[in-house]
Amino acid sequence: MKNISQVCLILIISLFAFGPSRAEYKCFYGNLHAHTSYSDGESTPDTAFTYARDVALIDIQALTDHNNGGYDYNPFLYQKVRHAADSITVDGVFVALAGQEIGKTTGFGHIACFETPELSPLFNYASDLISCYRWILGEDKPAMFCHPMLFQPDDFNYLYYYSDYNRSMDLLEVINQNGVYESKYLLALQNGWQVGASANQDNHNRNWGNAANSSGRIPLTGVWADTLTKASVLEAMQARRTCAMLVYPAMDRMEVSLRSGEHWQGEHFITPSTSINFQIKASAVAVNFKKIYLYTDGIVSDSLSPDNRDVYWDLNKEVKWGKHYFFVKAVQTDNDLAWTSPLFIDVLQDDPKTKVVTWPTPVADDCQIVYQPLTGVNRIKTLIYDVAGNRVWEHEASDPSAVLNWDSKDMKGNRVPNGLYIIKVEQSGPAQTSIAIGKTAVSR
Ligand SMILES: [Zn+2]
Ligand SMILES: [Zn+2]
Repeated sequence: MKNISQVCLILIISLFAFGPSRAEYKCFYGNLHAHTSYSDGESTPDTAFTYARDVALIDIQALTDHNNGGYDYNPFLYQKVRHAADSITVDGVFVALAGQEIGKTTGFGHIACFETPELSPLFNYASDLISCYRWILGEDKPAMFCHPMLFQPDDFNYLYYYSDYNRSMDLLEVINQNGVYESKYLLALQNGWQVGASANQDNHNRNWGNAANSSGRIPLTGVWADTLTKASVLEAMQARRTCAMLVYPAMDRMEVSLRSGEHWQGEHFITPSTSINFQIKASAVAVNFKKIYLYTDGIVSDSLSPDNRDVYWDLNKEVKWGKHYFFVKAVQTDNDLAWTSPLFIDVLQDDPKTKVVTWPTPVADDCQIVYQPLTGVNRIKTLIYDVAGNRVWEHEASDPSAVLNWDSKDMKGNRVPNGLYIIKVEQSGPAQTSIAIGKTAVSR
């Protein structure tokens, strides 16, 4: 189970941890969305995986036949896909993933899930987005928003962010076949989803891994993993350590990475510094890059014009207090594109009195109150006030490392109105008392 309290603990620990250096990840190339005759595509899983490996020459192929009504994909066929995927997967050579496309064409859109032990129980979940997110959360396997808003403008409830299901979804298709969903990527991120970028072919013909779109470009997802094994690829997908790309010629490949020290694209961390150093790398096999853009909170904030196939960009940025996301978009001279997943960075002010934030902000339902826990403390009192100074919530605890949740309700259990709230966290022990103050917004 993905556990929100674990996530919060990691957040808090990441304030202090400068642990051993991370593995040097390598970029592997995959196509994470494709079909066979098990739903509305052609041929068999064996043929599809073999083609992707031997003809398209990619590293990772997922088969995601439709488990959303109208097709014969069933538990027996799904186990056949799993068996085919495991049989053809060879560590260091090729990773095949068994998947399914769930959700509803006329309901809330399509979601691809990977490597769950069983098919999703179709008829219980096909029409209910929340149940779908809940089922995925329980499976703890990668999941991806497919071609958002292709069918309906209100797919995924307009990509509304459900904080309880933050860890249900890992990736979003910035590219699906001919469709470019960059604006939906921005919408999801702006709404609060912490999702990474992918680009896939959604094959319905015998071209798994090398299907070009109408402009001749091939969509591929770059997956930064420590090794080419199924476990590492799944870990990288859940960590959102990916990039989305469109490549031409067919064997061109782009490696685009965005790091801030030890932190890679896809990570979420908190820093007390308003000065953030980014290391951006882009390299390509066949074609030079003409532009590299850094997006800050959805808007281009910095750019570079390299005209080179290997680019290293060390960038220092001053950012304001609050929650931010940053990603890179790279453009080659032939206009091929690549997008990295975002780095999600919460910036606390240097003044210890203001080191309190909520995650997420704004708050829709539940949030965690994140502050810097002090040592030698045995009483933590938390108070929340509205802007008129009325106390709406209070809480006392004894363990500074324990997760502190607020359900955005007052002490009577009523949901507080939308607006700005002040949070005060008082930590005291035998030797000291420290008060931290922050603010958050409730917006439903
Ligand atoms: Zn679909
Ligand atoms: Zn599909």
